[in-house]
Amino acid sequence: MEQRCLIVGGGTMGSGIALVAARGGYRVEVVEPLPAARERALAYFERETQRAEDGAVLERIVWLDALPQSSDAALAIEAVPEQFDLKRDVFIALARAIAPDALLATNTSSFSVSALADVVDRSDRVVGLHFFNPPARMALLEIIGAPQTSDEMLERAFAVAERLGKTGVLASDTPGFIVNRVARPFYLNAMRALEEEIASAEELDALARGAGFRMGPFELMDLIGLDVNLATTESIYARTGAPRFAPVELQRRMVAQGLLGRKTGAGFYNYRDGSPERYDAGVPEQTERNSDEFVALLGFGPRADELAELLEQQYANLQRIENDELIDELSPRTTLVIDAGDGVEDRGEVIAGLDSVLGVESVFFADAYTTDLERCARRMQHPERLIGYGVLGELQSQDVVEIVDSDQVADDALELAQELFATLGKGAVLVEDSPGLFLGRTIGSIVNEAMIAIAEDVASPDDIDVAMRLGANYPIGPVAWGREIGGARIARILQRVADAHGDAFAPHRSLWMLDLPPNPEEEEAAQ
Ligand code: NAD
Repeated sequence: MEQRCLIVGGGTMGSGIALVAARGGYRVEVVEPLPAARERALAYFERETQRAEDGAVLERIVWLDALPQSSDAALAIEAVPEQFDLKRDVFIALARAIAPDALLATNTSSFSVSALADVVDRSDRVVGLHFFNPPARMALLEIIGAPQTSDEMLERAFAVAERLGKTGVLASDTPGFIVNRVARPFYLNAMRALEEEIASAEELDALARGAGFRMGPFELMDLIGLDVNLATTESIYARTGAPRFAPVELQRRMVAQGLLGRKTGAGFYNYRDGSPERYDAGVPEQTERNSDEFVALLGFGPRADELAELLEQQYANLQRIENDELIDELSPRTTLVIDAGDGVEDRGEVIAGLDSVLGVESVFFADAYTTDLERCARRMQHPERLIGYGVLGELQSQDVVEIVDSDQVADDALELAQELFATLGKGAVLVEDSPGLFLGRTIGSIVNEAMIAIAEDVASPDDIDVAMRLGANYPIGPVAWGREIGGARIARILQRVADAHGDAFAPHRSLWMLDLPPNPEEEEAAQ
């Protein structure tokens, strides 16, 4: 017999879930009292099935005005608006209507699944099935097990995910589950950077896209709706009390003013005259090999190796110095000194030392994520020749580099810096100096949040990576990203942020684990 699926609420999520369930072979009943909501859903079904040429699945979907007294559904999902009392009442009625051993699911984004399980008998059958919008397109399904949920019901939930063609990940019943929680630093740090006037929203979005995010944080918040985004933050903040989740005043103000994003015609961008133009960070075509500059690359490790390889292709005169003790060998003709360091330490002292040896023509590039540029500049004879640059992990996965536009830096040095990265095929965005700049602070905090979530048993590292790639379109999972950047490097960056902005932003003690070989067995096999 074909299994039935009963969905309560036929709005944005309920209608999308209904379509996915019908495609998965269920006979679907959707309870939706509002005719207008049904009409919207039917128009959506029409569009979506025309595109996929599977209109026949709609024969499997039946609409109901009210919840039936009894139902033989094997699976029931509530998708009514996010109000606890409403969900509680719907859950009580649903639990009475379906068989005691049917799977009972909530699509809540912000309430405790366990609190909903508490209101019904046989609470072992309750799970969270957190779909992503639009359910027909998004491949991820967060499966939330409450303490009451039985293993058998969890297994059934994974079987449901498979049947619906979704990738299920297991999350514990904690605020924001995986995606909404681990994504918070993306939005919050972007808005903090904007409040600090590090750069404009357009420029910060360009930097985020250059790092591989499909959309920058501001254009994404405009799409989601600033009010919806703020509500998620407020809910996670209220439930955890953790100051790192505290809403940003700028967003509160914008929401109060009705600047909600695309739906109101204005948010961080203005949509009244059509789609706003994206900032062009000028990702250039590769240029000819340069033989004018004498480049020296200092430092060791994977970041320095990658830089060396790229520089070698583009600069005829490249000298590599992998050990600070060999700095004496630096050619006096050097015009560009690029310090990659070891990715972890402040390099101010080394750079200040070189500055006293080389001529006024040389420009010094320091890793702005780990080096205190202001302190370094104070020790230099030519502080106007100091450039802070930001290459976080692998340069090949970063199209755009942030370059510090500090008060003392000379215009021609800045131009040279932009030229250097253009020669390497990278765009550049000028930013004000601030610990971690934008990408270091933001991506570092995302990795940090993932590590906190692992330590708090929210989910496994693999599930977190899958969830962020499929549920938030991240280019790489945060744990894998953290391994690429290095745990010690992220810890150093976040410690600088914490020194400036408070302990709430401090690196988590487990970051060092990112620097261990990922799997001891694999490591053994490799030896
Ligand atoms: P929505 O307002 O679009 O849809 C809710 C629907 O439920 C409405 O059509 C409403 O008429 C109907 N409804 C209200 N009371 C009802 C009742 N007693 N019985 C039957 N139907 C009733 O909301 P949505 O965006 O679809 O969100 C639904 C749930 O999904 C919420 O818990 C939300 O947090 C969660 N969620 C939303 C998203 C998202 O991006 N929209 C993503 C994941 C999860």
